[in-house]
Amino acid sequence: MELNIALLRGDGIGPEIVDSAAAVLEKTASEFGHRIYFTPYLIGGAAINAVGKPLPQETVDGCLASDSVLLGAVGGPEWDDLPGDRRPEKALLGIRAALGLYTNLRPAKLYPSLRSASPLRDEIVGSGFDIMIVRELTGGIYFGERGYREGRFGREAFDTEAYSVTEIERIGRIAFETAMKRGRRLCSIDKANVLETSRLWRKTMHTIAEEYPEVEYSDMFVDNAAMQLVRCPGQFDVIVTSNMFGDILSDETSQITGSIGMLASASLGEGKRGMYEPIHGSAPDIAGQDKANPIAAILSGAMMLRYSFGLSEEAERIEKAVDKVLEEGWRTADIIGNSEGAPLTCTKMTEKIIEVI
Ligand code: NAD
Repeated sequence: MELNIALLRGDGIGPEIVDSAAAVLEKTASEFGHRIYFTPYLIGGAAINAVGKPLPQETVDGCLASDSVLLGAVGGPEWDDLPGDRRPEKALLGIRAALGLYTNLRPAKLYPSLRSASPLRDEIVGSGFDIMIVRELTGGIYFGERGYREGRFGREAFDTEAYSVTEIERIGRIAFETAMKRGRRLCSIDKANVLETSRLWRKTMHTIAEEYPEVEYSDMFVDNAAMQLVRCPGQFDVIVTSNMFGDILSDETSQITGSIGMLASASLGEGKRGMYEPIHGSAPDIAGQDKANPIAAILSGAMMLRYSFGLSEEAERIEKAVDKVLEEGWRTADIIGNSEGAPLTCTKMTEKIIEVI
């Protein structure tokens, strides 16, 4: 297979971790006889410095012409004083919109070998957890009508949540398909006891559930879900939820793994092109020091192989290599905890993973 990938390195540790992920993808592709081509494009602060805007048209065009996109991270103190619409982070919304990415997939797995990194007690974590959050990304209250008006108590601000059956159906189908590829359990999270949009959400999910009798489906209110995630995270396999609830719950879920440098994500739309990125930011405090943990970016590359190219075996090869390197006790500084020995650099961790592949 031929894979054409746009690389958006971005700022801070972005270039280091994207180059690591690209090296791992290259090794995996060669092991399986695929041809892989990378084309770098500017984004974020690096683009502001080079051409005066965070998302140049050339970058959008390049991503649209590629099969898939791998992003590092954007932003940093150098650009913090710019007005909102000219900041590096603005490029993220712009590129997601340009690529029509309406689904965000965020896995949160607790690695047994990194058990001590989780802030949860042993009896709560039990035998570990492996959760996939499917978040709707381009609808709901973040995109609804907003403004100011005269209200009962004088001037007030308002935001509106709106969801159509079409939007719920398309995210619902992705969630059910994702559940089919994993543990075949799906929990839809809403606030149907209060919100009309949630009632439509729930009704639509139930209709889709009839098409997937193999998937064990359940509903949960968002307030309960926030509690259940820290009470018994092992009960969840796949979670599907709206934009705002997903924003909050996916951060909560990342936090209980305890290792931000390990978590990947995928943003998907129609067709196979997606954008894959670690969930962490540009970590300006360690940028350029070869200290970053490249695993989140490397696992984002694995997600790309699975979701954009249907190369599950290749993705698994990368995931298993990461597992093995961790089981052998190799650690970057962010996950070293009380382990003995010096932490690996970003470069060394990448080499270890490539060696196993
Ligand atoms: P951050 O995720 O960059 O860093 C938080 C902490 O985690 C820091 O101490 C950092 O050193 C550490 N960390 C993060 N990733 C790591 C890795 N791979 N290896 C080792 N340690 C790692 O969050 P922040 O400090 O709040 O934000 C820094 C900048 O990143 C800001 O400009 C912010 O706007 C931007 N940001 C970008 C994205 C994105 O591009 N998607 C996401 C979040 C934040």
